[in-house]
Amino acid sequence: MQTATAIIAAGGAGLRMGTSSPKQFSELLGVPILIHTIRAFRKVPAIGAIIVVAPAEHRERTQALLALYQMADHCTVVSGGKLRQDSVRIGLAQVEPDCQLVAVHDGARPLIAPEDIQRCLEAAATYGAAIMAVPMKDTLKAVAADTTIRHTVERESLWQAQTPQVVRTTLLKEAFARADQDSFVGTDEASLLEHGDWPVMVVEGSETNLKITRPDDLRMAEALLMQKQPISELRIGHGFDAHRLVAGRPLILGGMEIPHELGLLGHSDADVLTHALCDAILGACGCGDIGRHFPDSDPQYQGISSIRLLAQVIGLAKAKHFRLHNADITVVAERPKLAPHFPAMQTILAEACRVEPAAINLKASTTEKMGYTGREEGISAHAVVLMASYPT
Ligand code: MG
Repeated sequence: MQTATAIIAAGGAGLRMGTSSPKQFSELLGVPILIHTIRAFRKVPAIGAIIVVAPAEHRERTQALLALYQMADHCTVVSGGKLRQDSVRIGLAQVEPDCQLVAVHDGARPLIAPEDIQRCLEAAATYGAAIMAVPMKDTLKAVAADTTIRHTVERESLWQAQTPQVVRTTLLKEAFARADQDSFVGTDEASLLEHGDWPVMVVEGSETNLKITRPDDLRMAEALLMQKQPISELRIGHGFDAHRLVAGRPLILGGMEIPHELGLLGHSDADVLTHALCDAILGACGCGDIGRHFPDSDPQYQGISSIRLLAQVIGLAKAKHFRLHNADITVVAERPKLAPHFPAMQTILAEACRVEPAAINLKASTTEKMGYTGREEGISAHAVVLMASYPT
């Protein structure tokens, strides 16, 4: 196999993300997007060097990030230019003369599969230039300024260009020289080759190689990544809680109000089910208990929705690189009947925990009129969770 250098174009400001810093610093499962992207390239043996083109004002931060993830020795960081073409030109100038292929990749495409990078490299080694692309699936409409459809665009021959875009080093240099000579500006490397009439092969890629542009993309990428990530550690956690039933309080369980003549007494909304779940999660992560994080002496937690506390607990777990794999929760109550409310509770709890509803199992039990739950003096709940860690 020929030797190749990757140029990671991470110069975008990412204004559509609504964040103050560039999108490549946004985290996916606790790890910055750029790091995920570089990891994919490091898994390809033919890639000998990686050049990261960062915005000039974020060059040092990028360098520090690479050092943090122990990648500084394998990557060179350079300051980018105004346009993508300028940035790639700067990167290209850093490529060693004996390197045969250059693979340009968007820093914001972290889900690229190493096998797909390899396929592009092989195609470019044979044909001179190859890019990853996917055939159009949707029907395309040409739309007028007043948002009425002009006509349907023939999509038979249309593909969506992605990256990597791999070109023989000498050819890419030639294409840049030609573009500069003609003051031609292209939005990707393939367009520079097209401008000079050099053939470019298309390698069919995957829709999962998405470019993270909007906050929605980030959530989708996170879900895709979770399926791919090997689980490196599993931790079990257990939680128990009980609250007294009194008149004049709403009964809140699993984040919803249940019609009943009595409610649970507590500093927050006294959602005993959610408290048991929080404690189980904290337990699995070695983070103590709910009282330590949200003391009932603190007025800011007075009457607070426990679902909000749960979302914060999930945030704490995420900071320790743990995510909820599944939870099994039993509520012990003589009355009212809870099973009809379980599907709605499941949805609320799953959303707070950022998992599928199927990952949350709810059960109800009575104690056959024995003890404090049997006498309807209170309601208790037990929760067991399995937390999975993802690699940092
Ligand atoms: Mg409690």
